[in-house]
Amino acid sequence: MVQIFSMFKLQNYINGTLQAPASNEYLDNFDPSTGKVYSLIPDSDERDVNQAVEAAKAAFPSWSVTPKEKRSEIILKIVDLINANYDKLAEAESRDNGKPLWLAKKVDIARAASNFHFFATGILHFASEAHMMEDRVINYTRRDPLGVVGCISPWNLPLYLFTWKIAPALAAGNCVVAKPSEVTPMTAYLLSELCVEAGLPMGVLNIVHGLGPKVGSSITEHDDICAISFTGGTATGAQIAKVAAPKFKKLSLELGGKNPNIIFDDCDFDKALNTTLASSFANQGQICLCGSRIFIQRGIYEKFRDAFVEKVSRRKVSYPTDPEAKLGAVVSKGHMEKVLSYIQLTKEEGGTILTGGNQVHLEGEHSEGYYIEPTIIEGLSYDCRTNQEEIFGPVVTITPFDTEEEVLMMANSTQYGLAATVWTENLTKAHRVANDIHMGIVWVNCWLVRDLRTPFGGVKNSGVGREGGFEALKFFTEPKNVCISL
Ligand code: NDP
Repeated sequence: MVQIFSMFKLQNYINGTLQAPASNEYLDNFDPSTGKVYSLIPDSDERDVNQAVEAAKAAFPSWSVTPKEKRSEIILKIVDLINANYDKLAEAESRDNGKPLWLAKKVDIARAASNFHFFATGILHFASEAHMMEDRVINYTRRDPLGVVGCISPWNLPLYLFTWKIAPALAAGNCVVAKPSEVTPMTAYLLSELCVEAGLPMGVLNIVHGLGPKVGSSITEHDDICAISFTGGTATGAQIAKVAAPKFKKLSLELGGKNPNIIFDDCDFDKALNTTLASSFANQGQICLCGSRIFIQRGIYEKFRDAFVEKVSRRKVSYPTDPEAKLGAVVSKGHMEKVLSYIQLTKEEGGTILTGGNQVHLEGEHSEGYYIEPTIIEGLSYDCRTNQEEIFGPVVTITPFDTEEEVLMMANSTQYGLAATVWTENLTKAHRVANDIHMGIVWVNCWLVRDLRTPFGGVKNSGVGREGGFEALKFFTEPKNVCISL
């Protein structure tokens, strides 16, 4: 790829301007496909967050009363600019994250534009309730913006998840202090340039780059930030809740998962097989919705296993700009080492690696990149660590089952409850399993089919609250009931 960002210094976006961090210190930003540093990120701290909060507070009185049509118009300008800069953003996302360029084009940037478009138009249809009483009393509910809100996002779908939070927050009339993952900051930085170009008023959106424990925790702790929308790991979510809860901040937490794929004997075999390939290894398995525990009913177990192993062993792992790459690099050296340590653990737990299991060493400039073979493991108990802990990489286990009761017990056995897929041509069974599975999202005979109006989120340790559609607009507004006696 062209070295468009060679040792480029990213900047914070505070009060409408791009600026250096107060510390004037920078962190290395690595290109996962080569393992080399290619740009520098502001090592921001509490001072930058304080400045961002002051800017957001100053902007709030005006932005919160700006007519929603006008807010919508400004946000739609950002959509136009994302579309006008589509290839540049996709290249930046692919380079920063390691994902195949075709994937960044097809999914990440398309969805970032859709997120803004969806909420810029959704706000025009967002209505509140009225409750009449028989004795000539009427209640109506106001839904006012909250004030200054914090949005903290992870590295796996960088611009996609960053905008999924920012868009509803801004559309609802809030001012935002946001932190992208320090591991993948580039597209959030490019977005800040587009916000300047779109004429987003000063202070309405502020983007502070840097480390989670410095910038993220300063956002969580700040007394003038009244709500936190967070997507990331369960341990970080727990840490944020610990700080935010005693301050009575509104909290939306989208956390980890260990999602089951349940494949019954009576499924559409080819469709189940091909979709399971994607749901296992898309984005190098680094999607919170990827299915990492694949349960296959005994009658088709061997046929499915053999066909799955054959297809997976032919998946090409390559550098992101290779159009043939099915998997690119995982996001960082640390993450690669974590995933490889889980592969080692599966051996210690008695698992058999059917395909994959190794780091991939490419040639030339990509020889130091972070590549892992897509890996399938068989022969583990449902309750071992490999089957209970989130690996978040290209590693799946396959397990046979006999009955619906047995597979539900295994599927529901983890601390997580984010998403499941169910494969069967029996409609009654599909409804029954969807009812009995303890997850926030269930896909039947499909995966990652997304209607942005639907409630999105998990149960148990996968999170608190729901994003998407009016759920997100409700989160970013405060209901106030007004009761009038006529
Ligand atoms: P992390 O929890 O490590 O980080 C998420 C964000 O929080 C980053 O911006 C991080 O900054 C920041 N952060 C870290 N520590 C703190 C802190 N103490 N206070 C405030 N913010 C902090 O998650 P990852 O980035 O590693 O993302 C992977 C995880 O995200 C997986 O568990 C995955 O399942 C989950 N996820 C969940 C989704 C869902 O919708 N449920 C969707 C996508 C991912 P920094 O990068 O600097 O560490």
